[in-house]
Amino acid sequence: MTEKLLRDVEYNYNHINERIAEAAEKSGRSREDITFLAATKTVDAEVINYAVSLGLDHIGENRVQELLSKYDAYDLEHCSLQFIGHLQSNKVRQIVDKVDLIQSVDSFKLAKEISAQSFKRGKVTDILVEVNIGREENKSGVYEENLEELLCQISELPSISVKGLMTIPPICDNKHKISNYFNNMHKLFLDISQKKLDNISMTILSMGMSADYYEAILAGANMVRVGSALFGARNYT
Ligand SMILES: *Cc1c(COP(=O)(O)O)cnc(C)c1O
Repeated sequence: MTEKLLRDVEYNYNHINERIAEAAEKSGRSREDITFLAATKTVDAEVINYAVSLGLDHIGENRVQELLSKYDAYDLEHCSLQFIGHLQSNKVRQIVDKVDLIQSVDSFKLAKEISAQSFKRGKVTDILVEVNIGREENKSGVYEENLEELLCQISELPSISVKGLMTIPPICDNKHKISNYFNNMHKLFLDISQKKLDNISMTILSMGMSADYYEAILAGANMVRVGSALFGARNYT
């Protein structure tokens, strides 16, 4: 961990906060309405904790193994730990008592296991349902036409609580196209909110990453997940 890396993280952290504030205001909200979650895959716990010391208060991991290996080192008194990656049902029990929110639930099978493991531990686990808004094959997330049915099924489970929606739109460098996906997602979020489904809360709309969090906020996101723009390019070695 070098001085330069920490200086970069500090600069990036401040810069991202400013852009979040600007996008929030442009969309009629304020900085406090938007949650800045740092996507921390491949990042050392010391560097994550440095960002937490600057004021970062939400972090998200993608892989169960990596989360477990860093778990004792996170400064969890000062930040909320979430799971944002694809989760296999057989790994739920390893993280269910360690995370505040699981953002990536896209099947009833996974929801059932989260509820069962949470029930055993006497807790209720908050989740987001992941939507495959770009209808990409081989990508996680439920198709929008199946969303309401999945939400209704999950709402019957005792120890899991839906707090909103999450999406990862298709990779493309056309800002206009990306904004379309975000706008469609926001519309879906509002449609579901208006249905006032029993035991389903539509509070969090998690979308936008390093390249497009600004556009996501303009389209209505209230949580963004930013990795490389904060910590620098990932090194997968
Ligand atoms: C890695 C990751 C991000 C952040 O990606 P960047 O482009 O580095 O900002 C956000 N969400 C999820 C689910 C991720 O896996």
